Formats: sequence, C-alpha cells, structure tokens
Amino acid sequence: MAKLDLIDCANNLVKVVRTCPQCGKEQSLQVNYEEYQNWRDGMLIQRAFKSLTAGQREILMTGICEPCWDAMFNFEEDEIYVDETPRTDPF
Ligand SMILES: [Zn+2]
Repeated sequence: MAKLDLIDCANNLVKVVRTCPQCGKEQSLQVNYEEYQNWRDGMLIQRAFKSLTAGQREILMTGICEPCWDAMFNFEEDEIYVDETPRTDPF
C-alpha cells in the first residue's frame, strides 16, 4: 500500500516519501503544494513541476532513486553498443 504524502498547509508544501523499488532506500522530497495538486489533477509531471530535475520527478512517480535510475539507463545504453556489429571494410 502506498504511503500518504504529508501535506504541510502552513508552508504550502508537500513532503513526499518514497521507497526505491530497486535498492529499498527511502528518499524524501519537498514540493510546492499547488504544483503537487496540479500533478494529482492529471497535469503532465514535466509541466506541473517545472523546478524539479528529471531525477526528482522520477522519485515522485516511481520512487526509483537517481543512482538506480542512472544504472538502468547506462545498462540500456550498453546493450545498444553490444548489438553494434564491427565494421569490416576492405580498405
Ligand atoms: Zn535506488
């Protein structure tokens, strides 16, 4: 079951805590309450949270932390290189 995000009305902030499904590490993030509400109402995350990095948006959506995300991304890149066949030009 997903944890509820903690809304701090006094400071107009939402504290989001996510557990990374890859490494199990917990990470927290503070976001603007209005931006958070926009996102919850269905706005694209890139539009709703203009000030967040792609990694921080990923934490909000999936909980995957930046090191794990980087590792997954690099792995996919590596696979592309493995598929590349060596050139055997006769020159
Ligand atoms: Zn992780």
